[in-house]
Amino acid sequence: MSERKATPQKSLISLPFFAALIILSLLLYQNGAKWLRSVLIYLSHAKWARDLVTGHSLANRVSSRFVAGESIGEAVDTARTLNLKGMTVTVDFLGESVTDKDVAIASADEIVDLLDSIDSSGVNANVSVKLSQLGLRIDEELALTNMRRILNHARGYNNKVRIDMEESDVVDTTLALYRKLRDEDGFDNVGVVIQSYLYRSADDVEKLVDEGAWIRLCKGAYAEPPDIAFPKKGDTDSNFVELTQFMLSKNARDKGVYLGIATHDENMIDASLDYVNSTNIPPDKFEFQMLFGIRRELQKALVDKGYKVRIYVPYGTAWYPYLVRRLAEHPANLWFFVSNLLRR
Ligand SMILES: Cc1cc2nc3c(=O)[nH]c(=O)nc-3n(C[C@H](O)[C@H](O)[C@H](O)COP(=O)(O)OP(=O)(O)OC[C@H]3O[C@@H](n4cnc5c(N)ncnc54)[C@H](O)[C@@H]3O)c2cc1C
Repeated sequence: MSERKATPQKSLISLPFFAALIILSLLLYQNGAKWLRSVLIYLSHAKWARDLVTGHSLANRVSSRFVAGESIGEAVDTARTLNLKGMTVTVDFLGESVTDKDVAIASADEIVDLLDSIDSSGVNANVSVKLSQLGLRIDEELALTNMRRILNHARGYNNKVRIDMEESDVVDTTLALYRKLRDEDGFDNVGVVIQSYLYRSADDVEKLVDEGAWIRLCKGAYAEPPDIAFPKKGDTDSNFVELTQFMLSKNARDKGVYLGIATHDENMIDASLDYVNSTNIPPDKFEFQMLFGIRRELQKALVDKGYKVRIYVPYGTAWYPYLVRRLAEHPANLWFFVSNLLRR
């Protein structure tokens, strides 16, 4: 009886947020997707919005379309299911912009436990982390210490860890810490991410290719100003194609580069495959990467054609910013989110 009363109260508390989402959807048609994207990316950082949404039990359930669950066990089960469908997995323990040292250390503890479970369960999965989840915005040394612990643990299992790329103000530090871990500490099981929306990425890629890096290329998920990132999608896309070709080239592969082409954009995938076919690159020399729950039919189609596909599987309770970035990328998801809430 008391439980029945609790749900409508939470719905009422969250009502302003969901009403705002519906109004935003309508405004989209008047003001364009770019404007909506900026608002959603603002909301992904806004504590007030996070508190409203994550306090809503139905929102937790709807997020399960894009998030594997809250526990390591659920993430590993999802990885197993995807492995059975012919896909490899990257597991991501959700968390970012941590401001408390203990939370950063607890995140590292969780990732160490995650690596244990991946190994003991036998699933084919590696791990992605965000440096801000491990304390980068508190103290670089803290993030570095946490990373060393995680990489050491992963190395014991012959597993790998990729550092996700975050906002442009931490790109320099992220690359510097990545190089410290790889070149000074000798971890050969660490990888990095490049975002094609940044003007600087062509230079970064040139250096990373020389270093034979393990690289994921994506378009970039944050709101960046026009003096730092291409404001037009067409330019980000052209850069994506150029960087893909550069990192798939014989020269790059000879240096040890292994590229993860992370996109759901069929134009990017087709352009990659045109280059692969015209230059006779074997399909085991690169992989496509997509997010859990997004373009599932495309994921399967690529596996059916014999290409390697890796699915990025997030789990954990800190799903709010991740989910809102997914809404920003594809506003149709907004309707999926809101309509499911209204239906339940
Ligand atoms: C494996 C992986 C790892 C990533 N890691 C990072 C990272 O470390 N740092 C970072 O900044 N970004 C990361 N991203 C996000 C990435 O930068 C883009 O924001 C995101 O992938 C959307 O771009 P897109 O290439 O799919 O193309 P878009 O041009 O955005 O989309 C092309 C088409 O794909 C589909 N689509 C795209 N996104 C969605 C969605 N959310 N829901 C439903 N359909 C969608 C739609 O049909 C859309 O028309 C990652 C993405 C992937 C796949």
